[in-house]
Amino acid sequence: MCGMKINFHQSDLLTINIEDKMAKSFPQIFSCKVGTFPIKYLGVPLHYDKLRREDLQPIIDRIIRCISGWLGRHLTYKGKLILLCACIVSSPAYLMVVIKFPKWAIEAINSQMAHSFWGNMGDQHKYHLTNWGLITRKKFFGGLGIPNLNEFNMALLASSGKRFFDNKKRLERCYSFKYNTEYPNVLWSKSDNASSFWKSVTWALNASKTFYRWKIGNGRNVKLWHDLWVGECSLKVQFRELFYICNQPECTVSRVWDGVDLKLSFRRCADSTGFDKWNQLLDIIQGIPLSDAPDVPIWMLESNGVYSVKSFHSTINFGGVASAIGDKLWKILCPQNIHVFLWLSVYNKVLTGDDLAKRKNVDDPSCLFCNELEYVQHLFFDCIVAKCIWKLFAKSFQMQIMSCFKDICAL
Ligand SMILES: [Zn+2]
Repeated sequence: MCGMKINFHQSDLLTINIEDKMAKSFPQIFSCKVGTFPIKYLGVPLHYDKLRREDLQPIIDRIIRCISGWLGRHLTYKGKLILLCACIVSSPAYLMVVIKFPKWAIEAINSQMAHSFWGNMGDQHKYHLTNWGLITRKKFFGGLGIPNLNEFNMALLASSGKRFFDNKKRLERCYSFKYNTEYPNVLWSKSDNASSFWKSVTWALNASKTFYRWKIGNGRNVKLWHDLWVGECSLKVQFRELFYICNQPECTVSRVWDGVDLKLSFRRCADSTGFDKWNQLLDIIQGIPLSDAPDVPIWMLESNGVYSVKSFHSTINFGGVASAIGDKLWKILCPQNIHVFLWLSVYNKVLTGDDLAKRKNVDDPSCLFCNELEYVQHLFFDCIVAKCIWKLFAKSFQMQIMSCFKDICAL
């Protein structure tokens, strides 16, 4: 036996589902204090109920204090970018693996990061030249590459799915039993009456299931209509007409397909188009035999088929419109601080006359050299003075005359 003993004076006793009278008697027996939820375990607040705002607020305040502790004015834009990406965003990562951060918490951290990036100090307010959404896009998609906390949170939580597909450990088995994750698979788990942790995980898994493709084995864990297991998209998209009149919209593959017959029934008779679709469906499914092996999920965003936070985060970060410059701007050979200035210039977000006129009363927003309206394109390329300078450069360095920022990015 080792000589270690429990120090009851420094211990809290917590009870769940026990009558008050009995709960009060235990601390007297052990001579220790009565504790209350939430408790902290490895820095993570634990509660049998939903975490309230006042439970999370101290953690968010600590993260915000950490950001505001860095004196932004002593750093260049490039330095601030490295600091935000490498240190500050990663500090709440351990919590984001288990908790879905509420909207107010994300906004509070984002707001503090924006103040730090644009150099606000105390009462001294600096202009926020672009919105935070653009800054948190990946560089390839035209942003500055600071992780978007909401998307980062989702990608970290979705990594829980990987543990359920690999060899399940004791905790995963416990969740499987409680929330029936086997039918048909963990990606379709319900969050009704679930703990806040499980609600967070199902939120992320629900978003990630679009990017899983199933290699069919015995067909027990794959939804026939909804999961992607044959063709380029789910069967409910490929055979929409049949799906809407099918009596088994939520069935698994093994429930209706035995390798010979497809046992589906429909609410009404199909017309000639529907009948053709049915024959097409039969042709496709008959080419896929079932086996005794379990169904295998394949993560389509990675070549090795295994889920990664990076790949999912990159995919959901894409705003739907591809950037014309991509990440070419960041490959230009110039001092690193110039990259951020060029990035601001490409989006016309430099404090030129037109931009200042939108923010405050400006007596004269016109160009100092030629009296035309001063905007980025004019100041750096279209102004008569700028054109003279570019001509001089082109002659001296044997290069073509630049007419816009895209020309510079193409260098
Ligand atoms: Zn001018």
